[in-house]
Amino acid sequence: MTTILPTVQPPFPIAWGFSTRHSDASQLPVRMLSQVHGCAIWEASDTPREGDGHWTQEFGRRIGVRVADCVPILLAGLAYGAPWVAALHAGWRGASKGILRRGIEKFLELGGHSHDLYFAFGPCIQACHFEVGPEVIEAAKNDAAWRDDLATIGPCGKPRLDLHGLLRAQATDMGLDPQKDGSVKRCTLCERDIFYSYRGGDSGRQWGWVEIIALPLNISVVT
Ligand SMILES: [Zn+2]
Repeated sequence: MTTILPTVQPPFPIAWGFSTRHSDASQLPVRMLSQVHGCAIWEASDTPREGDGHWTQEFGRRIGVRVADCVPILLAGLAYGAPWVAALHAGWRGASKGILRRGIEKFLELGGHSHDLYFAFGPCIQACHFEVGPEVIEAAKNDAAWRDDLATIGPCGKPRLDLHGLLRAQATDMGLDPQKDGSVKRCTLCERDIFYSYRGGDSGRQWGWVEIIALPLNISVVT
């Protein structure tokens, strides 16, 4: 399998998905972001940026983020009737600092409604493998949507964080509709034959990417 699709589709034509080790590189976006585990989100352009997310309303511009254990987040909705898409990179730092909240706020600023926004969290290191230090849980607890069941204790007594769960709690808190959640809950470290995993020692990265597909032009026939 080369590209894993979100399990929902917004009501306008887009291509989107999560790449794997086996994806055809020619389908992947041009790398425009230097990701730094922060919260900066840019309107996509031909200028490379430092940041962890970008969005676009341009037809035919494929945008994405690179990950290997962090969560690739894809967003798609209509803002004042015009397609809007975003790709965000969220590890525990970005998730705790609220990159998803910032992305949703941008959509709202541009005229979107939170309950109309489609969203998908891609393959990442899941709670089965994501052992963390107490400082990670403390950072996540700063979010208003934190619930204690998002952290569990692993067999060695160390906490484990549910990154998808934290992001989903934030999405719900901001009014997103659970029926528009197309997340793919797969673990990059459990499935190293398919995904790159940073904790597994891989230097490669997979992408979460999205593109608004141009509609065919209506051709007026002059008679
Ligand atoms: Zn796992």
